[in-house]
Amino acid sequence: MKSEKRKGAKGKGKFRCPRTNVILWRYFALFAVSIIVVVTIVSYVVLGNSFISQQTRRVKAIGQELTQIVNDPDVSPSVKESKLGEYALFDNVTVFIIGEDGNIYYPRLLVVPEGIEEVAREAAQHLPVWEKGATAEYTTGDSENRTYNYVSCVRDGSSRAKLLVRFPISPMADSITQTQLYVLLIALGIILVAFLISYTLAEKLSRPIRDLSAKVGKLAEGDFSVQFTSAEYSEVAKLSDNLNYMRDEIKKSDDFQKELLANVTHDLKTPLTMIKAYASMIQEISGDNPEKRNKHLSVIIEEADRLAGLVDDILISSKMRAGIGQLNKKVFNLTEYLYGIIAKFSYLQETQGYRIMVDVDPNMYTFADYEKTGQVIYNLISNAVNYTGADKTVYVSLKYMAGEDRIKFSVRDTGKGIDEEERKHIWERYYRSKDSHTRPVKGTGLGLNIVKLILDAHSFAFGVLSEEGKGSVFYVEFPFVSPTPVA
Ligand code: ADP
Repeated sequence: MKSEKRKGAKGKGKFRCPRTNVILWRYFALFAVSIIVVVTIVSYVVLGNSFISQQTRRVKAIGQELTQIVNDPDVSPSVKESKLGEYALFDNVTVFIIGEDGNIYYPRLLVVPEGIEEVAREAAQHLPVWEKGATAEYTTGDSENRTYNYVSCVRDGSSRAKLLVRFPISPMADSITQTQLYVLLIALGIILVAFLISYTLAEKLSRPIRDLSAKVGKLAEGDFSVQFTSAEYSEVAKLSDNLNYMRDEIKKSDDFQKELLANVTHDLKTPLTMIKAYASMIQEISGDNPEKRNKHLSVIIEEADRLAGLVDDILISSKMRAGIGQLNKKVFNLTEYLYGIIAKFSYLQETQGYRIMVDVDPNMYTFADYEKTGQVIYNLISNAVNYTGADKTVYVSLKYMAGEDRIKFSVRDTGKGIDEEERKHIWERYYRSKDSHTRPVKGTGLGLNIVKLILDAHSFAFGVLSEEGKGSVFYVEFPFVSPTPVA
């Protein structure tokens, strides 16, 4: 059972899941590759189609402009020729003017270039009849020798002719293929870089989690010295903080259990030993002597009461710690309640000369947990009785705090007070003064801790003021409410 738990805590072999960094890496890489593939495809299509069509549109525009120039009777033949030459020179186009008879009027060449008849024939095929304003576009040649042609009907002076503008597409297609190859190589390079980056990123994101998980494993084995320090990104920093908090709380509860066991063992043992010792004395010595027997029996009863009180306090303290927030609040008359609690101390007033001086405003209503408020008041008054000075006097007051809608409950004693160092610890569990003191009410060291737990749960202000040699004042501020019950 134990080893099974450990295995689970360490996460070994229980679930067969891929590691976070592998999952992250897969997704990052897939994401990067898909983006790059899409960009590459788009760039292929754009480069392949739109660039060529853009060029053919440009050549067509040149053809249209040259058609206008050639047709214009106001432009002299020499200007026309220089314009035709200009385009041929700067725009990588070849321009011909072919007469109806098939002769080349422009350019005027001494030697007719090879294949020119074929070019003229193709033009005649695509635009067979001379018609004013008629044009045609076509491509010729194979994949290595592809040419775009624009042919239009023109009037060169008085004679009819055809203007042919040619633009070689193949070299451009070659350079596009070259560029596409570069794009492909760059895309592959980027994919490689994307893989590396995504791997590094996945490692960076998952490492702190692995780190924390290893430390949680140690904590599970009972090592409270582990420090959760990973703070590489905010979520992990927050998780580290929470784990540190959890570790502290587990440690506190672990310490509490050990301390509780030690204290309870000690506190229960003392009265039990006494009870056993006095019971034996009655059995062996004082059984027949009524006076002695009664004396010994009263010690047994006193110790049994002390034991019951201790058990009660331990129970209240544990319940409060386990169930903080579960308050059963209601509106009640605090003044009346206080008188009732003071009455419980009347036996001390009658038998041991204690005096409880009361200064209480009438009909002070508050909204709080009735039982737990009673516990607070009882604990504070019994402490004051226990620690008050030789005059055996305790002062209890309950006063309305004007303008603040609160009621201040105070208990003052005339004892030796609590020094500053001790004041820091009196609210802790099992803290007890080292001084031996004859106390009319037996203490357990839990009283003030119970007071603190209850008042913290209510969020009521409370505290202690003390002057050495003069006594202490313990106070609590209750909310003041009207006597109608709150829904
Ligand atoms: P105890 O059972 O010892 O009274 P408490 O939790 O009620 O336990 O109080 C804790 C310690 O606080 C006491 O042991 C004592 O040292 C100190 N203390 C509490 N009330 C007073 C007081 N009115 N005057 C002086 N010391 C006090």
